[in-house]
This record gives sequence, structure tokens and C-alpha cells, in this order.
Amino acid sequence: MHHFHYIEKELYCEEVPVSDVALEVGTPFYLYSHATLRQHFRAVDHAFDGLKHLTCFSVKANSNIAILRLFALEGGGMDIVSGGELYRSLKAGVAPNKIVYSGVGKQTEDLEYALRSDILMFNVESPLEILKLNEISGRLSRKARIAIRVNPDVDPKTHPYISTGLRENKFGIDINDALEQYTLAASLENLEISGVSCHIGSQLTQVSPFVDALGKLYGLIGELESKGIKINYLDLGGGLGITYDTEEPPHPREYAAAIKAELQTEDLTLILEPGRVIMGNGGILVTKVLYTKPTREKTFFVVDAAMNDLMRPALYDSYHMIQPVKTSDREKIKADVVGPICESSDFFAKGREMESCRQGELLAIMSAGAYGFSMASNYNSRPRACEVMVKGDRFYTIRERETFEDLIKGETIPDFL
Ligand SMILES: *Cc1c(COP(=O)(O)O)cnc(C)c1O
Repeated sequence: MHHFHYIEKELYCEEVPVSDVALEVGTPFYLYSHATLRQHFRAVDHAFDGLKHLTCFSVKANSNIAILRLFALEGGGMDIVSGGELYRSLKAGVAPNKIVYSGVGKQTEDLEYALRSDILMFNVESPLEILKLNEISGRLSRKARIAIRVNPDVDPKTHPYISTGLRENKFGIDINDALEQYTLAASLENLEISGVSCHIGSQLTQVSPFVDALGKLYGLIGELESKGIKINYLDLGGGLGITYDTEEPPHPREYAAAIKAELQTEDLTLILEPGRVIMGNGGILVTKVLYTKPTREKTFFVVDAAMNDLMRPALYDSYHMIQPVKTSDREKIKADVVGPICESSDFFAKGREMESCRQGELLAIMSAGAYGFSMASNYNSRPRACEVMVKGDRFYTIRERETFEDLIKGETIPDFL
């Protein structure tokens, strides 16, 4: 469920006509629905009611501090992958003891920052990281709570670029080597074993890979307990998919039911790290048709958003529904919707059956809330778009459109030039 819908022939976000926002802020822009995001957060969080759990939003899906604040107010924590994401989370008012930190390449400065901030848990991903974290904790006179992110070698059956829990992937420590690494970590003075974690991939449309991973984690937890290593947190990662096109992913309720059915103990606190399932359908990218360009081959709609604004089609060949902000009764044609960037991968749709549109009209690229703005760049020296949040009948700019001055911020020309 989301709150982007038509009234008469006009696309609304909650009670605001999308075209009203365009008049005020220009195009392209990201538009998020507060009600949708809150509802999606609750759908995940409340699905686990009755169990000790913490829902840590995956900041990389959308890192705007207004959005992080929204989830913090709902009682959420954060799953971060960098010092920058920790900074954002703290600025947004997230409690440090609700922050977990994953990532294969955590840097010394970032580890120090996280230790000083006293975050809940480090999900460590390699033997050398265990040693490094122990060394840094000692130096800062702290104790780092850790989980080992294990690679359970289950196939998430998703796009290979967003699959992370196969043995061939760079993430985590092979579950078969985990016992040895836990034993080592337990012997180190400045580490405290706190949990077991995994994250097997993104945009999963079945529950079975989650269940398989959970089974393997329980196997490991059993072995650890027999060695006297006590586990408090079971971090299942994120990865639940959404409908972009015709996918039929499980509802968070079904996901939770499948997890609950496998639970072997209620002592552990579950950690969930949802990103896409909360954000994805809570945001759209609104763009204007700059040119219609019929060629002998096909028709191109050249729009003012580009791959620098929304990289997913270029990166994963992913599908986004495209809808007119004002529907017409014009015939449907097959068209390519493309951006202005000098790359052939700069497209939003190819050979798409869609209502014919005209120069100056607005299009909504749907399901763009997750991995949209957070992956945006300045390629082709395009200022990044603004972000707007709708609540009821009002809208608020939560990030201004960048200016040309922003583009050269920090650049200098050395004296010899
Ligand atoms: C990206 C990521 C997530 C979120 O994944 P979604 O598919 O967006 O739910 C959760 N945990 C970790 C460690 C991640 O890297």
C-alpha cells in the first residue's frame, strides 16, 4: 500500500497534487509520502510484536536525516555502513544504542568514531577486522560489542549484483569458519561477543532463503553456546523485496510468521535491517519531458532526470513503472524514456508501452524511494535533485536542490595554473 494515487486524472501524493510540488520546486525532484513510510516501518516493526526485537533501518537505502528522524520517532534504530551514515544517524537524533554497523571495509577513523559513540554492535566481516577492532578498542579504553556477520551460503535468488550471502560473495565470514573466529574474538580483551548476524541479499521475493539462513545461524548459535559463548542478538539483516513490476514478494507479516515458526528460543533479541521494503514504494522521482523525439526506429521521451539521479536502471537494468502526472486519453505507444546524460545506459525505460506524452509534461518514476537519491551523483556536472516530503495536505523540502556553486565546493586551482 502506498499513498500515490489518482484523483480524477491527476496524480496525488497523499492530499497534494504532484504538479503543485513541481510548480514550487521545479524538476526533477524526489517526493516521499510520510504516511506511506510510517505505515511501511510499522508493517515490519509490528509484525514482530510479541518478540524482543529492534528494527534498524538500513541507512544506505535513503539517508536523508528527515527520513532517519521519522523512523527514530517510531522507535527504530539504524543499520549503518560508514562513518558518514553514523554522523547522519546521530544528527537525526537516533539513539547510539540502537545502531549496528556492517561493512567489509570499515576504516580506522570510522571504527573509532563508532566506538566513541558507543553504538550497539559491530557486525564484523573478516578475521583482520576482529583484530583491528580489538586493537582500537584497547587504545580507546572501550569494549566493542560484536557480532560476526556470517556468510551462510544460501542463494537469495535475486539479481547477482545484490546477492550477498553466497560463498563467492565478498561479505561476511564463511559460516564454517565462524566458530573458530568467535573463539578467537572471545579470547580478546577488548571485545565482547554480543550477536550473530547475516544479510543474504536484497529484493528477495521468497521467504525460503531467509528461513534457510536462520536455520544455519541457529546451528552456529548452538555450537557457540556449547563452547560457553553467549549470544544476545540475532541479526537477520534486510533484503525483503517489493513490487516494482509484477513481483509478488511476501508481506512483512508472512516474513515474520516464517521467522517465528523457526524460532528456537525467545531469549535472543532479533535485529531486522529493512531498507527497500520500507522506502522503495514510499518515494517517486518526478521529471519533465524535455523533448519528444520520434525516430524511424522508435520514439524517445527525453526527460530532465537522468542516471545520476536514479542509477538503478543503468546499474541493474531494473524496472520502474512510469506514470503520467496528468493522464490523458491519448493512444499508447512504445517508447524509450531517457535522460540527457552522454551514456547509452542513461535510460529509465526501454520499449515501454505508455501513454504518449508531450513536451513539458510531467512523468512520475515510481518505486524510487530506496537506492534512488542515496545513489545519486553529480555526473555530467548535474546538481543533485531536491527531496520533498508530503504529510497530509502539506509538503516540505527536506533537501534543497544543489546549485552550480555546490558543484565546485572544495575544488581549488593550484597557484601554478
Ligand atoms: C543493504 C543492506 C541492508 C538493507 O537491504 P534491503 O534489501 O534494502 O532491505 C541490510 N543490511 C545490510 C548489512 C546491508 O548491506
